[in-house]
Amino acid sequence: MAARGGRALLALCGALAACGWLLGAQAQEPGAPAAGMRRRRRLQQEDGISFEYHRYPELREALVSVWLQCTAISRIYTVGRSFEGRELLVIELSDNPGVHEPGEPEFKYIGNMHGNEAVGRELLIFLAQYLCNEYQKGNETIVKLIHNTRIHIMPSLNPDGFEKAASQPGELKDWFVGRSNAQGIDLNRNFPDLDRIVYVNEKEGGPNNHLLKNLKKIVDQNTKLAPETKAVIHWIMDIPFVLSANLHGGDLVANYPYDETRSGSAHEYSSCPDDAIFQSLARAYSAFNPPMSDPNRPPCRKNDDDSSFIDGTTNGAAWYSVPGGMQDFNYLSSNCFEITVELSCEKFPPEETLKSYWEDNKNSLISYLEQIHRGVKGFVRDLQGNPIANATISVEGIDHDVTSAKDGDYWRLLVPGNYKLTASAPGYLAITKKVAVPYSPAVGVDFELESFSERKEVEKEELMEWWKMMSETLNF
Ligand SMILES: [Zn+2]
Repeated sequence: MAARGGRALLALCGALAACGWLLGAQAQEPGAPAAGMRRRRRLQQEDGISFEYHRYPELREALVSVWLQCTAISRIYTVGRSFEGRELLVIELSDNPGVHEPGEPEFKYIGNMHGNEAVGRELLIFLAQYLCNEYQKGNETIVKLIHNTRIHIMPSLNPDGFEKAASQPGELKDWFVGRSNAQGIDLNRNFPDLDRIVYVNEKEGGPNNHLLKNLKKIVDQNTKLAPETKAVIHWIMDIPFVLSANLHGGDLVANYPYDETRSGSAHEYSSCPDDAIFQSLARAYSAFNPPMSDPNRPPCRKNDDDSSFIDGTTNGAAWYSVPGGMQDFNYLSSNCFEITVELSCEKFPPEETLKSYWEDNKNSLISYLEQIHRGVKGFVRDLQGNPIANATISVEGIDHDVTSAKDGDYWRLLVPGNYKLTASAPGYLAITKKVAVPYSPAVGVDFELESFSERKEVEKEELMEWWKMMSETLNF
C-alpha cells in the first residue's frame, strides 16, 4: 500500500513541479524520529481521521493524504519556513485550487501559532480530512461551501514550537514550553502594532484601513519580525482574504477586535468600528460549541477572570490587552476580519481527548466558515466593464472601509440592517447605493463608476447640444 501511495504521489508530483519538497521531505526533517521508529499508535480512527497528535512529518503526511484523496478540490502549498526550516504548510480546498475566482471570497484558518497550544493544529488536520470526505459523500453544505469559497487551512504557524512542546516526556506538558518560536519570539505579540496608529488616526484624522500600504518594505527590513511573522504578513497582504480565525488554547472563548486597549490599561472594552458584525461572528463560533457557550461553565482555573465573557465570546481588550497581535493586524492592514478562538482549558491535553474536542468544534468550524457569505458583495467596474481594483467601499456610520480586489470584486461583512454603501476610486465619480441586508446570504451590489474624463466628454457633448439648440432657436 505504501509503495502504491508513493507512486501515486510521484505521478501527481510529475504534473505539479512545485511539490518536489513533498517527496524529499522526510530525510530533511530536523530531529525527526527514524521512519521505522515513528510512533504508529492509532488511537481512534474514523473516516480516515486519526484522532492523535501529528508530529511534523505526520502533519505533512496527513495533508498529502487528503490531497491524494481529493486532488480535484485541493492543493498543498507553503507560505514560507519557520526559523528552524520547517515549512508553513497550507492545504487549500476549493473547486478551483490555486486560482482566485472573481467574486469568490477567500477564507483562512490558522492554528498552533503558540506551539504548545496543540488542539487547533489537530482540529485543522481533522477539518481538512472532513471537508474532503464530506465533499465526496455529496454533503450539500460542504459541497456548496467548497464551490463558493476558497478555503485555506494552515494547521501550524509555529511548527518549531510544537516540536519542542511535544518532545516533553509524559502526558503533562509545561504551560509555557514551546509557546514561542525557536528564537524565543511570541508570534502573537510580534506584528506591527497598527492599533496604536489607528487610535491616533481616530483623533487626528487619517486612514481607517490598509495601514501598512506603504510600509511593506519596512516589514521586510525589520529584523525584530520572526520569519513566521513575515511569511504570514505577506500571505495576509497578497490574498484577498475576507474572513479568518486564529486558533489558540488555554481557555474557552471566541475573542474579537480590538485586542489592545485605547488607553493602555490592562482591561477595557475596546470596540472596533465593526463591533456588531464581530460580535455576531464570534457567536457563530461559540454557539455551536456546547462547553464554550455554556453560561454555567466554571472558569478554566479557579482564579481566572472571565467576567468579560458573554455567550462564550469576549472583546479581546476587555479580557486583557494584547499589543502586536495577528487578529487586529488583519483588520487594520487588509480586508480580512479575524477572530481568535481559545479552544481548550488545557493547552496540550491528553491525546485520547482529541476526539471529543473535534466533536465540540466540528459544527463551530463549519458555521464560522459559512459566515463569509454574509453582508454585501459585488464588483466595481468602469462604464466599459473593466474591473477597478483598490476602489474603496464605505458604509455610512461605520468608520472602516474595505477595498476591491484585482478583479474589482469586494466583500463587505455586515449584520442585518439598512445601509448606504459608497464606492469610490481616484479619477471616478463616487456612487452611493441603498441596500437592505438580511442575515444571509450576501446581497449582490455592483457599482459602475464613470471616470472624470468620461464625464467631461458627456458634459462637452451636452454643451454642444445646447449651443446647437440655442443657435437654431435664436437664429445666430
Ligand atoms: Zn495562544
